[in-house]
Amino acid sequence: MPLAEYMALCLAHPRHGYYTTRDPLGAGGDFTTAPEISQMFGELLGLWIAQAWVDMGAPRGAVLAELGPGRGTLMADALRAAGRAPGFAEAVSPWLVEISPTLRARQARALEGRGAQWAERVEDLPEGPLLLLANEFFDALPIRQLVRAGGRWRERAVRLDGQGRLVFGLGAVVPWQADEPDGAVVETCPAGEAVAAWIGARLAAQGGAALIVDYGYAARAPGGADTFQAMRGHAYADPLAAPGQADLTAHVDFAALARAAEAAGAAAWPVAGQGLFLEQLGITARAQTLARAAARPAPAGGSRPPTPPPTETGRAAAVTAEDPVEAIVSAHRRLTHPEEMGTLFKVLALTGPGQPRPPGV
Ligand code: SAH
Repeated sequence: MPLAEYMALCLAHPRHGYYTTRDPLGAGGDFTTAPEISQMFGELLGLWIAQAWVDMGAPRGAVLAELGPGRGTLMADALRAAGRAPGFAEAVSPWLVEISPTLRARQARALEGRGAQWAERVEDLPEGPLLLLANEFFDALPIRQLVRAGGRWRERAVRLDGQGRLVFGLGAVVPWQADEPDGAVVETCPAGEAVAAWIGARLAAQGGAALIVDYGYAARAPGGADTFQAMRGHAYADPLAAPGQADLTAHVDFAALARAAEAAGAAAWPVAGQGLFLEQLGITARAQTLARAAARPAPAGGSRPPTPPPTETGRAAAVTAEDPVEAIVSAHRRLTHPEEMGTLFKVLALTGPGQPRPPGV
């Protein structure tokens, strides 16, 4: 079968799929993500959303949608921060686009009392100005790989060998216009481009802003690259070894997503590194505030009003058994440093045409 079909079945099969059958996040799972590392991530994205909403004239009936919300941590942190903008909570309804029943249940717990609603696909979201967040969603959508072999492009396939083991193979010849040496690999993500096109069309028709955060490249390198990978227990694994048991991903081609959204009528802003983006949104100031609150002894019998409650799952995955100030410093570094998530992770902002440039990009 083509690689895209294998990836889609492994991740999303109703009974055996990776996401449908488990919560993969956190220290006990296979990988961790920015919102699970620190509440600062979701808070700053929430403020970005609130700013976009204010810039649009604070419309009522806006839809705040998150694609692939995992444990619901990002949405919870974002709503808490965006709720500081007067009128936001009344004007904007949260929607979660999620295929996994297991993770939907988890999201419902994280977002109790916030009026969240669920959709299976972006096409099922209600009408209205769109505010959208997607963190590590696009890397989980099925990719195609085209492999240059014998002077032609062929579809990468997955098949059984003589002993009944899964192996890579070459499928149909594909009409792809590019001349590369044998062995070159080109990846495309038709499912991701379709979602970006839908977002672009909605932003063009009804206004709004979308923020796509993921690991990937700003533009595809000549000669391409094979970025198909499996993660299991926080380590790289063989993507064919245990179908449905490992997280399968590929790097996101941000230029392709931007092109798809622009072709549908939206404005795409220059792709930014996550580190600089978060710095421009004020992550250092937020870290200092949290660190000051954490360093202060808690008043007897009282809570600490200046600090929002830490997220449930939290930073534990990233920074265990450290003192609370160290944990904040370390989370800040992890999210922004070029050798950590600062440059591999990137941010693509999309807006309705004619809207002002959003912060951070
Ligand atoms: N955004 C979260 C989780 C990332 S993991 C975080 O940053 O922690 C990927 C998420 O996308 C999971 O919630 C998974 O169930 C969901 N997902 C994967 N494929 C999907 C699809 N085709 N449609 C909707 N959600 C999907």
